[in-house]
Order: sequence, then structure tokens, then C-alpha cells
Amino acid sequence: MNLKKSLQAFNEAKRFMPGGVNSPVRSFNSVDSNPPFISHGAGSHIFDIDGNEYIDYVGSWGPLVLGHAHPRVVAALSRQIARGTSYGAPTLLETQLARLVNKIFPSMQVMRMVSSGTEATMSALRVARGYTGREKIIKFIGCYHGHSDSLLVKAGSGAATFGEPSSPGVTRGTAQDTIALPYNDLAAVESAFAQCGEQIAAVIVEPVAGNMGLVLPKENYLRGLRDVTKKFGALLIFDEVMCGFRVALGGAQEKYHVTPDLTCLGKIIGGGLPCAAYGGREDIMRNVSPDGRIYQAGTLSGNPLAMTAGIETLTALLEDNLTDKIAAKTSKLVEGLQSAAQRSNVTIQTPQAGSMFGIFFSDKPVTNYDESAAANQEQFKRFFAAMLEQGIYLAPSQFETLFMSAAHTEEDLARTLEAAEVAFGALR
Ligand SMILES: *Cc1c(COP(=O)(O)O)cnc(C)c1O
Repeated sequence: MNLKKSLQAFNEAKRFMPGGVNSPVRSFNSVDSNPPFISHGAGSHIFDIDGNEYIDYVGSWGPLVLGHAHPRVVAALSRQIARGTSYGAPTLLETQLARLVNKIFPSMQVMRMVSSGTEATMSALRVARGYTGREKIIKFIGCYHGHSDSLLVKAGSGAATFGEPSSPGVTRGTAQDTIALPYNDLAAVESAFAQCGEQIAAVIVEPVAGNMGLVLPKENYLRGLRDVTKKFGALLIFDEVMCGFRVALGGAQEKYHVTPDLTCLGKIIGGGLPCAAYGGREDIMRNVSPDGRIYQAGTLSGNPLAMTAGIETLTALLEDNLTDKIAAKTSKLVEGLQSAAQRSNVTIQTPQAGSMFGIFFSDKPVTNYDESAAANQEQFKRFFAAMLEQGIYLAPSQFETLFMSAAHTEEDLARTLEAAEVAFGALR
């Protein structure tokens, strides 16, 4: 595969941007490689500036559940763009999207639109702290909730309950209010609450975790989090930025029948434009300014282009009952990957949740970050490179999740499995 122009473009980009990118994972660092520069996308395919074509299982990291340049989204955006891109004043579109979100996520009685998942989780934490009058939060190792200070925290050394910054620039003071615990370990949460439960404002969790590879919650884990938070008067925040509209249309809360106090959405809610939202119980959300005193704002929040792409995407999901259909395609692909790996005597784990799936080169199921990190990443790198070479665009890290879209065809799946047969064969 010729990537000459992409390589040249990458070198130029590096002059002006750290790593040549505007979000680290795009640099292909973790697969010791260089990224293709994309010229355009259509349906399930993307095209780079060197003229290569790929079947895309990244989908802009999740948002593009309808595929690239979906005619319905493009038409609506074109109509809106001619009317202006932002007014900083209320529009009908914002209520229309909020009504749709409330229909799909009934627990989000009152919500606020923002422009990124980072903003949604950061704001939800402020609301939780403002509402409870408490300062500490619990997060789980391997869950990613965006890059706000409180959430760039790793577990402290030894038996310390308090976290340490996972990035320079995060103050120790901030990190000390974050308790980082292993995912899928309810006993660890119960013990933290037993120690300092009356100081804990919230537990924030990816109810289906997609940022350490795909890791599913153990039976009764989410229920357990619900029970312990309720018992101690802390809020339960589901970060469904990735898994919302994918695990089930109504996200993990619909699938696992556990209702959080607050929910964060992102990615799909903006249909490929910058949009996210946080919301939940009305008695909590009425404390947000200007109804209440907890401040949060945004110049481009709820902007008409993002609202339009979100409305079209969610309406398409609802009207055509797409979520189940995309999940069925995902199951088919995942089964095919398993058999292809078995034929080459390669043992893989292929977790799946709706239209999300993952590949771990591991002989046992992965239930937390340590187990994910223990999987064979050398094999992943070689598999990734062999797939890319054959025109299959996977996420360039084992710690990411893969996404199916409505646009993927039977032919795409067949071509992907043929490529996988070759890639697994080369690992033997
Ligand atoms: C992507 C992601 C975020 C951050 O969203 P951005 O829009 O990148 O800021 C937060 N939480 C989860 C679960 C995510 O997958």
C-alpha cells in the first residue's frame, strides 16, 4: 500500500501540531506506524489522499452510526448551513433534539447540550458535587471520561485511597478528590464507601467500557453500583458517551435495567458534529444555572448544525429500528473473526455489545484494565498492520473499540473476513 503523500502530509502536520494531530490516538503511535491522511468518506468506506480505499470500523471513533456522508444528514445540514451556522440564541432545534433524547433515555428528564464528551462529564461532576455538597468522586481504572483534570487520575500507590495525576499539569489537590478503583470489582467500591462514603459525591462509570478495549460489566455490577450509591446518598453517573445508542438504542441503562441519576452522552448524539449532553433527574438538574446556582455555559452549545445532525441521526435510528440490525451484523462479523482465528490456531477474545466489538489476543475473557494490558499487543500490532494493508481500517490500538455502522454491507463483512483469514494466518 502506497502512503507516500500521507507520510509527507504527516511530516508537515508535525511542524504545527504535537504529534501532527489534534487528538493523540490518531498519530498511530501505539502501532508504531504512520496514519493515512483522509480525503473523504462515503458510507462504510474512507479514502486517503494517496488514493487508497478502506472499510472503516472506526467511524470517527463512534459517532458515525449511519456511515459517512449519509444523504439524510448531508441534506439536512445543507439546508441548515444556508440559514446560518450559529446564533447564540434559542432555536426550535434544541428542544427537538432534547425531546428525542428524552424519549430514548427517559432518565434524562432535564438535560443540557454541550460540545464534547469531556465537557459533558466535567459538567456532570460539577453538578454532582454542587448537588451533594461533597467533593470526592470514584472513577474506574481503564474507563475514559474525557480529559478534564478530575478525571485524568490514576490509582495511588499501595493502599492509598486517593488518586495521583495521570498527566503532568493536573494538580495533586485535584487528584486527591478522585478515587480510582479497578473496573468490575464491586467489593472495592463498597470498601471505599465504608471508608469515606459521606464524602463521595458520585461514582462515574462507563457502564459498558470501551476505552480499555471493549469490556462488559459483570452480572450485577451496575446494580451493585446503584445500590451502594443510593445507600450513601452519592449520585451514580453513567458515561454513555460511547455506548449510548449502541449497546441498545437507550444505552446500557436500557439493556441492564439500571437507572443512573445522571447520564452523559456524546459521539452519536451529534451525528458526526461536535455535540454532547448531560442530564438526568429533574430535582438535580434544576440546580443548573439559570434555574439554579451551579454554573455551566457554552458559546456554541446547542448550535444549529450539531442539533441538525443529531436530530437526523437519532430519527433515522428510531424510525428504521436500526440499532438491532447493526448489532446483528456485528454478531455475524465477530463470529466470522472467531472462526478465522481458530483456523489459524490463534486464540482471541471478541467481546461484543450491540454495534460495538473488540479483539483481544488473549486466552481468557478480559474484565478489567490489568487483564486488557496483559493481552498480546505484539500480535495486535501485526494483525492491525496486515488488516490495514488489505484495506481494513481498524482502531490503531488494542485499547480502543471497533464500531459497525448501518452502512456496512454484506460484501464489506465478507471482504473483512477474507482479510482477517490472511492476517491471522500470518501470525502463526
Ligand atoms: C469519547 C469519550 C469521552 C470524551 O468525549 P470527547 O468528545 O472526546 O471529549 C468521554 N467518555 C467516553 C466514554 C468516551 O468514549
